[in-house]
Amino acid sequence: MITIPCKLNPYRLAKQSREFSGSIFLSSMQRLNDVYLQDNGSLVHIELKFEYDSENVCVVKGRFDVKLELPCQRCLQKIAFDLSDSFILSPYGLDQKMGKMKYDQVILDVDNIDVNQMIEDEILLCLPYFPTHQNNNYCQIN
Ligand SMILES: [Zn+2]
Repeated sequence: MITIPCKLNPYRLAKQSREFSGSIFLSSMQRLNDVYLQDNGSLVHIELKFEYDSENVCVVKGRFDVKLELPCQRCLQKIAFDLSDSFILSPYGLDQKMGKMKYDQVILDVDNIDVNQMIEDEILLCLPYFPTHQNNNYCQIN
């Protein structure tokens, strides 16, 4: 059910003001695989919108929504998290001079955004640093 292409050219899509929505598998994100408890069916729901802002800067506006399970750092039992966030990023090529930092940057792979990697970065930023059961009744170690 991968309904969003994994490589997208932001400049071309911004000219066309394209929007995408769809899902990708959480298990396709390598770095996250080390953190969360495996559940191969979990999907990350994504919305992306490409456009040029009023100063003609190419931007990607996006949002993600995912349910995942992390191990409690006290008792190691699973805790379910609903994570969602929205973001605005500006594509940045390695051959490009660093412009003014109006937005956070997403590094381009040649001319394309690697969608998996971009969303994975955003999810990693949202993960709780030290997940524990908020309610001690659920925690196996009191
Ligand atoms: Zn716990």
